[in-house]
Amino acid sequence: MNAINPFESAMKQLAKAHKVLAGSKKKLGNIDQKVARLREPQRVINVTLPVMMDDGSQRLFQGYRVQFNNAKGPYKGGIRYHHNVSLDEVKALSFWMAMKCAVADLPLGGGKGGIIVDPKTLSQGELERLSRAYGKAIADVIGPDTDVPAPDVNTNGVIMGWMVEEFIASQKIKAKVLGKTLTKKDILKLKSTFTGKAITNGGSEGREEATGLGGLFVLQAIIKKLKLSGKLTAAVQGFGNVGYNVAKFLEEAGIMVVAVSDSKGGIYVPEGINPALTLDCKKKNGYLAGCYCSGSVCDLKKGRQVTNNELLELPVDILVPAALENAITAENAGKVKAKVVLEMANGPTTPEADTILYKKGIPVIPDILSNSGGVTVSAFEWEQNRKAAHWTKAQVNKKLAKKMADAAGAVWEASVMYKTDLRTAAFVVALERILASMKS
Ligand code: GLU
Repeated sequence: MNAINPFESAMKQLAKAHKVLAGSKKKLGNIDQKVARLREPQRVINVTLPVMMDDGSQRLFQGYRVQFNNAKGPYKGGIRYHHNVSLDEVKALSFWMAMKCAVADLPLGGGKGGIIVDPKTLSQGELERLSRAYGKAIADVIGPDTDVPAPDVNTNGVIMGWMVEEFIASQKIKAKVLGKTLTKKDILKLKSTFTGKAITNGGSEGREEATGLGGLFVLQAIIKKLKLSGKLTAAVQGFGNVGYNVAKFLEEAGIMVVAVSDSKGGIYVPEGINPALTLDCKKKNGYLAGCYCSGSVCDLKKGRQVTNNELLELPVDILVPAALENAITAENAGKVKAKVVLEMANGPTTPEADTILYKKGIPVIPDILSNSGGVTVSAFEWEQNRKAAHWTKAQVNKKLAKKMADAAGAVWEASVMYKTDLRTAAFVVALERILASMKS
């Protein structure tokens, strides 16, 4: 359980941006009334999933789908598998999705799903049965124009594929009742209900790396504004899809990644690590500790092990929390030495830590901007499925670069205009767009 409630943190962030917006001369209708609607989700779905375990016993799992707000379009957001999932966490994540889609100016609202499970304790068969049960359980409340789920922590394209099959099966039954049969085109449109699918199953080129690549584009735009240049170093907390890819793109862009970690701990190599080799080593080991990979060999003399907390306090230029919520708190924010924080996880910095970092003059590039590349390419996937199109990776990445540059530019301008931190500025940009789409 998170000691710090992420939904309470999210509401503090909203209150701060509301105050800034209320003091502006923006004509957005009844701002107070509209913002009040963003303090609770529009709909919460709670599902109980009976799953047959490999030993023949039945286990019941709890899952959620929270549909936070759809003023700008269908609810959109990933599905997380984690033992610490809670309703308040999913509520916070769905709220951040609504804000994130608005910052990236996508025609989408915010939603999120989660199942309370440690997927590492399941066999592949159990994982499939659990995912299919969840897909079936939420089939009635999702759809290409209603709610569009995607991967999040511990979920991926294979899992999306199982859920798509369950969803399409349920739609076929509905069509049969109405005496209709679904065409190939109907099925492709139905597939757009899930994004982050495997490319062979209607997924988009570039989706898997999109969050990491988008993070690099946002970072490049913001450090230019901050006039931060020279040979920069970075530490990345989290080595899942997002952490690994952001480390890889930072390194390719000439930023030296000196530390990475996973849930068990990390490694610090002042000469720099090679993310691809480190991933190979992690796959062989099952965890990161001991993977002091530099150049083409894993040299045990070059680095040392660090805990997740030590990683956050390393003397680097760029700190990248890319794991879970509440990594930077009032306890450790004072010890952060980085010149800038790039939030690749959702909600990694608490509001109290934000205040400390702001006072220390450390800008925090907020999650709803920095990690919006993932949902942006999800929106591209959704669009391609609806048009029966398939864009090349170069086309996808070019569109992503433009979206990220526009979003970073809008947030930077708002921070200058309202004389506020980047997070509050990003919320103000998002709120202006969401409130403008809401009827009074
Ligand atoms: N789970 C990702 C996020 O938190 C992506 C969501 C999506 O693609 O819908 O942004």
